[in-house]
Formats: sequence, structure tokens, C-alpha cells
Amino acid sequence: EAHRHDLGYDIDGVVIKVDDTAQRTRLGFTSRAPRWAIAYKFPPEERTTRLEAIEISVGRTGRVTPFAVLEPVFVGGVTVTRATLHNQDQVKAKDVRVGDTVVVRRAGDVIPEVVGPVADAAHDSRPIWEFPRTCPSSRPVELVRPEGESDTRCPDPECPFQVAGRIEHFASRGAMDIEGFGEQRIALFLDLELIEDVADVYAIDWDRLATLRALLTAWAGATLATARGRADEPRATWEAVVEVADVVATTPDDAVGQLPPGLVERLELDPARLRSVAATLGGLADEGVANLKAGIEASKERPLANLLVGLNIRHLGPSSSLALARAFGDLDRIVAAPVAAMAGVEGVGSVIAESVHEWLADPAHRSLVDRLQAAGLNVEGPEASSLPQVLLGQAIVVTGTLEGYTRDEAEAAITDRGGTSPGSVSKKTTAVVVGESPGASKVTKAESLAVPILDQGAFEKLLETGELPG
Ligand SMILES: [Zn+2]
Repeated sequence: EAHRHDLGYDIDGVVIKVDDTAQRTRLGFTSRAPRWAIAYKFPPEERTTRLEAIEISVGRTGRVTPFAVLEPVFVGGVTVTRATLHNQDQVKAKDVRVGDTVVVRRAGDVIPEVVGPVADAAHDSRPIWEFPRTCPSSRPVELVRPEGESDTRCPDPECPFQVAGRIEHFASRGAMDIEGFGEQRIALFLDLELIEDVADVYAIDWDRLATLRALLTAWAGATLATARGRADEPRATWEAVVEVADVVATTPDDAVGQLPPGLVERLELDPARLRSVAATLGGLADEGVANLKAGIEASKERPLANLLVGLNIRHLGPSSSLALARAFGDLDRIVAAPVAAMAGVEGVGSVIAESVHEWLADPAHRSLVDRLQAAGLNVEGPEASSLPQVLLGQAIVVTGTLEGYTRDEAEAAITDRGGTSPGSVSKKTTAVVVGESPGASKVTKAESLAVPILDQGAFEKLLETGELPG
């Protein structure tokens, strides 16, 4: 462990193996793992740094997450400036206060988190952090925390953070996978009011984008030139010379008429924002726009399951979306399906069925679906999997974390090969795949029913061949 950072890459542990294939064959496997290899994992790295502020973020579902703004610290192979504090109760339990020195932990790909404060004399004199009462977006709606729940939420369906988060999710790889349409461009298109929801992505006014691009790029150029002239530093960077007054002095005459209401004021108050807007627009010249148009066009052909994922329906993840798409074959039939019919689909169940039904019952959502259909998106059942159907008739339960697979990906790997992936172990279960930190009850049940237990290696072999290890 003392030498882990001597390597030119990051490691989170080591695997020690028997260095002789003949001996490996003799040692063989237990039902869970090979007897000739053992893994040692390092404990997560911890460092201390100063807590500069506690802020909150609002996710696409409205969930509010407090996070720590930290003095930059190198931990677990990266420089960390933010770390999650999970929820209101966690902040209280950890009793971290702005100004404290705190312990920060990061293991592997896990989001860095604040472990707690380092005891010091001044801690008690620092004010206890109070959870904000309103949304930090431009729509300061009162936050709610339902009785008995640990999460605080912004209940505003038009919350700008939620709107942006929903579009980002829609465009993300697990959903419509729109190449070239990431967080920054989505924020820009929302700012410029070129889009308001996911259906607008297919109806962008590109001429208007070009007009606004010319206006804002010219404004940013004039601002920088004015600032450089004022400071008499012709090569200075934006950060070094631009002040609010330079932005205001160069506001184009037609800006107020051309740009969405309020945007001119916001840009005038925040020079860094004008610069980032201009930088993002820099990538949207002819070629950038052509690529983005192609990315949007290509997304129309995504499988129905991806579209269902992109709709941001609570509880509806990739594997249940795939199950619905497979069972009903097209979007219209899902829209028309009674709750019971959806609940009866293997891998869906009543919670998801209720949630889908409730979402579709909202007229605003129905009109969104209509607009997406009118835009020419593929709304028909999944293309038959091109993978060999080696798992037909097999029910494979997955518990715990597998390396290289999210839970949904592991389930999709099974269903793509013709198998099913139920949520619980029964006599009908073919095998249980056990990853890291598995559910103890599933493992016990599998053992009591003598259902074969597979490790990661055996799972991968199963996906390939459809056969259980001897
Ligand atoms: Zn909000």
C-alpha cells in the first residue's frame, strides 16, 4: 500500500494469484470464487481540508442534496473541491460547520464525501448550518420535506434546475444518447429560450441560434477589446481585465429586443457568464451545428426502451423500460395499457406500473409524448437482440455490485440474451450472481434452495456460453 502511488495509474487494491496453471486446475473453484486467487482492497483514502461553504443542489427529480465546497484537496487520485453531504440529517449528524477542517474520503469512482470535522477549539463558536428554506434557482419556491422521509425536495415542476436535469437525462447515453448535447449546451439553449423541454430539442430554430450567436459573440468581442483598451494591455485575458462596466458599456443596442427577457441583465451582472456563453457558442459555428443536428437526428432512431428511460418517469429504469417495450411493442399500447397489465409484466411490478400510469395521466405529459411522436421518434418495440439467446428460459438473480456493470446493465446483459432477471430468489431461479456487498437474504435463500451461486467470472462465462460452471 505504501507504493500504490508509485505507479503511473490508479489502483484500488491488488489480486494475488497462484502462478501455476496446473496448481490452479487442482485448486479449482468454490461455488463463489476461485481458490487460487484472492483480492486485497485498500481502505478508501482520506484527507483533511477546510470547509469553505455548504450549498445545495437540486436534481432532475427535485431532490435537494447539500454539498460541501472545499479548499481543493488531492484525494483518491483526483483534486476534490466538492463533496456530498447526502441530506439534512447527515449534515446534522456529522455537525460540520463552515470554517471547520473536515475529513474527506474518496474510494474508486465513488463520489467524494465528507466524513466529519476534525475537532478544534473554534468549532463550537461557528454557527450551525441551516438548511435553506427555498430553492436556490431563479424560482425560489419553498422546499418541502415529507414526514418520515430523509430527502428534501423542490416541489416546483418548472424548477429551472429540474428542467435542465430532465433534458440532460433525456440526452444522456443511457437514454437518447444525443451526441454533442451536454450540460453546457443544454444550459445555453435554455438561457436563449431555444428549448424549454425535451420535445423542443427536435424543433430548434437554427436560424435564430445563428442570429443570437452573432450578437453574443460580437458583444463578448467588444467587451474584451474595450477592457484591454481601458487597461492598456492588448493581450490580457478576459479574467484579468474584464469588469462589469466593460460588459455594460458594450451591450449591443438590439440586445434587449433580441435576447430573452432578463438575460441581458444577468449577463451584464456576471462577466464570467458572458464569457462562457460566448465560448459555448464558439463551438456552434457551421460545422458544430451540423454535427449537433446529426446527433439529434440520429437519436430519433433509438430503441423505444431508451425513449422510456428518457421520459424521467419515477422508478422506471433501463431494465423495466426494456421489459415494457418488449411486452407491449409500441408506445401507444403502453399509453393505453391498464395498470394491471403493466404490473403483470416480468420485471415491472405494481410500483413501477402505478408510477408510469400516474405520469401518463398528466395531460402535460401526454402532450409531451404526442409532440415527441410527431417529431418522428421511433416508438416501436425493441429491435430483436442480435446477441445469441443462450439464456432462454433461465432466471438469473443478481445481488451486490459487479465490476463494470451497473445493476441495470447486469440485468440488461441477461435479458438481452433471452433470460429473465427477477428481483428475488425462488425454486425457479437458475442461479444467483453475487457481487460485492450482496443482499444477505438472497444468498441465504439461494443456499437453502441449493441454487447455484456465481461470482463475476462465472457470470461472464454464463453470458458467453449460457452454461453454469461444472
Ligand atoms: Zn427549484
